[in-house]
Amino acid sequence: MHITGLEIDNFKSFSKKTKIPFLEGFTVISGPNGSGKSNIIDSILFVLALSSSRNLRAEKLTDLINLNSGRNTAEVALEFSDGTKIRRRIKRTGNGYYSYNYLNERLCKQSDIVDHLAKHGIKPHGYNVVMQGDVTRIMEMSDFERRKIIDEIAGVAEFDTKKQQSLAE
Ligand code: ATP
Ligand code: MG
Repeated sequence: MHITGLEIDNFKSFSKKTKIPFLEGFTVISGPNGSGKSNIIDSILFVLALSSSRNLRAEKLTDLINLNSGRNTAEVALEFSDGTKIRRRIKRTGNGYYSYNYLNERLCKQSDIVDHLAKHGIKPHGYNVVMQGDVTRIMEMSDFERRKIIDEIAGVAEFDTKKQQSLAE
C-alpha cells in the first residue's frame, strides 16, 4: 500500500488548495530553501495524527493555519492505493481550536485514525518518517540509544515492554 495523493488547503505556506500526486516507488520533491518542502511532510504527519511524537515545527496547532489568507481553517487529505481516505481539519475559534478527523469521509475520533494506521504498522512513535536532522541525530547518539531505535523498527521493543510488564506483575 502506498500514498497516492495529498491535498493541502491553507496549511502552513500552502495558502491555496494544492494537490500533490504520489506515484508508486520513489517521489522526490525539490525546491529552494523555505519553499515548503518540509511543510509537505508536516502536512502528512498532521493528517495521519503522527504529530504527537514528531512536532510539526509550530508552537500551537493554530500556527499551522496559513498566516496570509485570512481564513480560519487548515485542511489536509491523504489517499492510499487501497482507496482509504484520511482527512483532518482544524478550525480556529475565539479561544482555541476545533480539530475534525475523517476516515473515508466519515467524522471519527483521532484515536480511530491512530488505530487504523497501527494495523498497517504506522505508529506515532515509529520511524516511518525520517525528519530533517534525524540522520545526524541518530549518528551522534550513543550505541545504547541507537540500539533502542533498531529494536523499535524491528518490532522487538514492543515485546520488551510486554516482558517488563509481565515480570512486574
Ligand atoms: P529547507 O530547504 O530550508 O529545508 P523547506 O522547503 O523545507 O526549506 P519549509 O520549512 O517547508 O521549507 O517552509 C518554511 C516556510 O514556511 C517559511 O517561509 C515559513 O514562513 C512558512 N510558513 C510556516 N508556517 C506558515 C504559516 N502558518 N503561514 C504561512 N507561511 C508559513
Ligand atoms: Mg526543509
